[in-house]
Amino acid sequence: MKLKSIEISGFKSFADRTKIEFRDGMTGIVGPNGSGKSNITEAIRWVMGEQSAKSLRGGKMPDIIFAGTEKRKPLARASVTIVFDNADHFLKTNYTEVVVTRRLFRNGDSQYQINHIDCRLKDILNLFIDTGLGRESFSIISQGRVESIFNSKPEDRRSIIEEVAGVLEYKQNKQKAESELAKTSGYLERVNDLIVELD
Ligand code: ATP
Repeated sequence: MKLKSIEISGFKSFADRTKIEFRDGMTGIVGPNGSGKSNITEAIRWVMGEQSAKSLRGGKMPDIIFAGTEKRKPLARASVTIVFDNADHFLKTNYTEVVVTRRLFRNGDSQYQINHIDCRLKDILNLFIDTGLGRESFSIISQGRVESIFNSKPEDRRSIIEEVAGVLEYKQNKQKAESELAKTSGYLERVNDLIVELD
């Protein structure tokens, strides 16, 4: 699975339709302070289902819509489309190319699409669940997050490393298996009691 492109229109500083294509290798985005570099990663997080306006540096979600400048009127709609090459079916869908679109209108209406078919936000969240690309994952690290990781307690830092290494999933599975085992031991005890009574 590979990020192929992102198309941004009316999102934050991107009033005009802007398409960024990610070729093989590493892509660097450079620009002066305030030119919109962070807005690109926020557009990626938003289209993949981000629900917190605060984490997108806004007060409420419509703040992500282009708010206008001295020379340009505000827009009524933000739209972001992201395209993944999914030839390896890393994303659990039959599509070999996955196109996800999210739109927000100033009146609060939203539109979500997977491969140009209307869907729910939940469907987009489900698409990225357990892929390491979701909202809470560490595939996108903001400047503030780096600082908070450096300043966090060693135990918290350890859980971050565990999550990145994929250990957390096994820890949760282990806990689930232990509680199932305890439940089964309880049933066994009851069966043994019944056998004793029948004898
Ligand atoms: P730095 O290098 O300082 O981190 P950056 O290149 O990452 O900067 P961003 O933080 O992505 O820049 O962009 C900030 C710019 O986006 C500001 O100029 C801000 O006015 C503009 N901006 C944010 N929200 C909106 C909006 N809703 N409408 C129009 N412009 C917006």
